[in-house]
Amino acid sequence: MKTQMGFGVKTNTEYGSRTFVYEVEGLRQSETTDKLNNPIRSSGTVYITVPYARMNQEMRRITRMGGKIVSIKTLSEYSQTNGQTTNTGEKTKPMTQAKPKSDKKDVPVNTYRPKNPFIGKCLSSTELVQEGGEGTVRHLVFDLSGSELKYLEGQSIGIIPPGTDANGKPHKLRLYSIASTRHGDNLDDQTVSLCVRRLEYNHPETGERIYGVCSSYLCGMEEGADVAITGPVGKEMLLPDDENATIIMIATGTGIAPFRAFIWRMFKEREQNPDYQFKGLAWLFFGCAYTPNILYKEELEELQRQFPDNFRVTYAISREQKNKDGGKMYIQHRIQENAEELWKEIQKENTHTYICGLKGMEGGIDEGMSAVASQSNEDWSVYQKQLKKDHRWHVETY
Ligand SMILES: Cc1cc2nc3c(=O)[nH]c(=O)nc-3n(C[C@H](O)[C@H](O)[C@H](O)COP(=O)(O)OP(=O)(O)OC[C@H]3O[C@@H](n4cnc5c(N)ncnc54)[C@H](O)[C@@H]3O)c2cc1C
Repeated sequence: MKTQMGFGVKTNTEYGSRTFVYEVEGLRQSETTDKLNNPIRSSGTVYITVPYARMNQEMRRITRMGGKIVSIKTLSEYSQTNGQTTNTGEKTKPMTQAKPKSDKKDVPVNTYRPKNPFIGKCLSSTELVQEGGEGTVRHLVFDLSGSELKYLEGQSIGIIPPGTDANGKPHKLRLYSIASTRHGDNLDDQTVSLCVRRLEYNHPETGERIYGVCSSYLCGMEEGADVAITGPVGKEMLLPDDENATIIMIATGTGIAPFRAFIWRMFKEREQNPDYQFKGLAWLFFGCAYTPNILYKEELEELQRQFPDNFRVTYAISREQKNKDGGKMYIQHRIQENAEELWKEIQKENTHTYICGLKGMEGGIDEGMSAVASQSNEDWSVYQKQLKKDHRWHVETY
């Protein structure tokens, strides 16, 4: 029997369970959260287990923290799906991509699974944050020779950090977007590259500095070290085959990883891809805090110089640039500034929009698009639903 809880969410009492699991979305980046030592960053939706008696109280606590409950399930319902345990003891989204949405049949997936990962080697690790920037972001290249691992631009791989978690269990894998094309940075089809930010934040209660398990492991990795790799996974962020498409890419921070792969395939590796000579428009929006945090800046700008008619880059540098109201310049402000042109592009049948990076960034983008769509008497949420159905609106935020 289904019962309706006071807050409009159905729960299933057949299981006789009195424990529920809230699916909570992370905090949105804003000027307030920006005042913290580090930008709020959630590596996936958090699942919180709540006894029946504390449901309302917990809901209020989550709201106070700026979280948003997107679903409530009984524990029995929830436990039918796999969860990933975090260092807080809470569960995050399972380490698979949402829904495979591509019709493409020849997309490699799960060649290596967690029980039988491929052990690759780290070939190089390079710092991407220039002097004066904040945090650590490394570009890592792993050797795949001897493996069966093939991948496409827009897919991710899993990395299993060594060691055990707080419960003494082996660490679960973490997903990372692949930052190289299928040919790899050495163009020999034998490597895969990642763009990894070391997660660091102050514990909300104790103030203690916390470093993420897997991202710290990867960012501290030395050349020659072994690395356990799974995957590839993901069909959400694949590039269309159409050489004349318009590709709009909206990234914050390491969200640029899949777009580096796209842009390299479009403009840098033309000789390697005789069957894909991109002639459309690629427009990258990139958001970060400071100029030294613009990842792959020199290479992007060089490609822009070489392909001025086909490649545009628009930066939103929150701590240096001002939006039209004098506030910090976030990516949503750049979207709003360019909304009319974007709207024109988005209405073309061969335009694909990709969003990758911090969870919560979609909100501002929707606001901008909503305003301009309404000028054409279109309801953005309805329009966007159709774009998603047509596989032309691709989102991967974490
Ligand atoms: C599809 C996908 C692609 C991804 N691609 C990339 C990528 O290209 N590059 C990249 O760097 N990352 C990427 N990630 C994120 C990556 O998978 C890891 O989640 C990230 O590196 C953190 O893992 P960790 O082991 O270092 O952190 P953990 O040790 O697992 O810690 C993470 C936990 O810390 C807590 N936490 C985090 N921030 C805060 C905060 N501000 N305040 C309080 N608590 C906090 C949360 O409970 C969170 O679950 C991707 C994720 C997905 C799902």
